Amino acid sequence: MTTSSYKPFRVVGLALDPIHVGTGGARLGRVDLTIVRDPVTRVPKIPGSSLAGVYRSYAAMQFEEQRANSNPSRAKPYFPDCVGQGQPDRQGQGGHCGQADCPICVTFGFARGQGGGFAGLASFTDAHVLLFPVATREGPVWVTSPGALRIVGIDCKIDDEKKIYRKNGQGASLNLGWLLLPVEQLSISDLEPRLRDLRIPDEIRNRAAVLSDKLFGHVVNSNLEVRTSVAIDPSTGAAEEGALFSFEALPRTTVLVWEVICRNPQHFKPGGQAISAQLGGKRLADADSVFEVVKTAHPYLEHLGIGGMGTRGMGRLKVVYAGDGAAAGGECQVQTAQEGDATHAAQNRPGPPQQEA
Ligand SMILES: [Zn+2]
Repeated sequence: MTTSSYKPFRVVGLALDPIHVGTGGARLGRVDLTIVRDPVTRVPKIPGSSLAGVYRSYAAMQFEEQRANSNPSRAKPYFPDCVGQGQPDRQGQGGHCGQADCPICVTFGFARGQGGGFAGLASFTDAHVLLFPVATREGPVWVTSPGALRIVGIDCKIDDEKKIYRKNGQGASLNLGWLLLPVEQLSISDLEPRLRDLRIPDEIRNRAAVLSDKLFGHVVNSNLEVRTSVAIDPSTGAAEEGALFSFEALPRTTVLVWEVICRNPQHFKPGGQAISAQLGGKRLADADSVFEVVKTAHPYLEHLGIGGMGTRGMGRLKVVYAGDGAAAGGECQVQTAQEGDATHAAQNRPGPPQQEA
């Protein structure tokens, strides 16, 4: 049995709806509700903390469904106990169970328990935009950049910052919104097979184009979905006064990539207890089995989604690839920043895990 202390897994998701993961506050400006952006590249992203919360809720729902099916007389069969921040209610009920045999608490951590809290065996990087759809006169084109590709271990250098690199159409030019760019032949021969390894659909893969990191940021930000909506007063069911607001979102068919770092359960003793959690009758014995718990959230992500505006048909995210971070796309290494870029999923990777207890 492998005894490595942690293992990174890569997940690739395709937006089935526009996705709005907000910054948590309205602000005055062109758009009222903005989405979270990388502070350096200004490209929108989904924070790892948001991913962790959503994964936890959905994995807990799945776990609770299993328990309800095996024991129909459970008092609260459909309410997952171990979701959320773990704070008990006023009667001291609920909150994280914090037990060494709870797959949700050991995987996602818990806020209370005999020995205090536990950070959890799985941690999440931010989800970065890998491929972004832009409408052109030739139909949609999915743009990416050297910085975005580096996240999935694809090394790509482009010569001219003011060109768009595509498989076909050399010598022509292409409009991306207000930008008219000369088209250059794409010379990274392994781009398509790498994207195929990541299960990126053919229609997207065949219409991929590479831009400089700088242009990528501009193009993404000027092609976000911006919607206008009206806030409804729940007590009257009518529109609130002055309630017109706009919000931005990543458009449908945006491809996002993130990493889940899973630690080896054998190296931890939360509250002095050896981890005895099971999933489907199998003990959590290594990083791979921790990732199995994480993956139970994926069908819910596809149907219930992530982020805000869910009642307005937003947020569904279909996972197309979930597997070994090293197998597809190569190792995800932090490289020396090029062209003033600093987009790395790996920068959020935690240090060596600390021995608990
Ligand atoms: Zn629990």
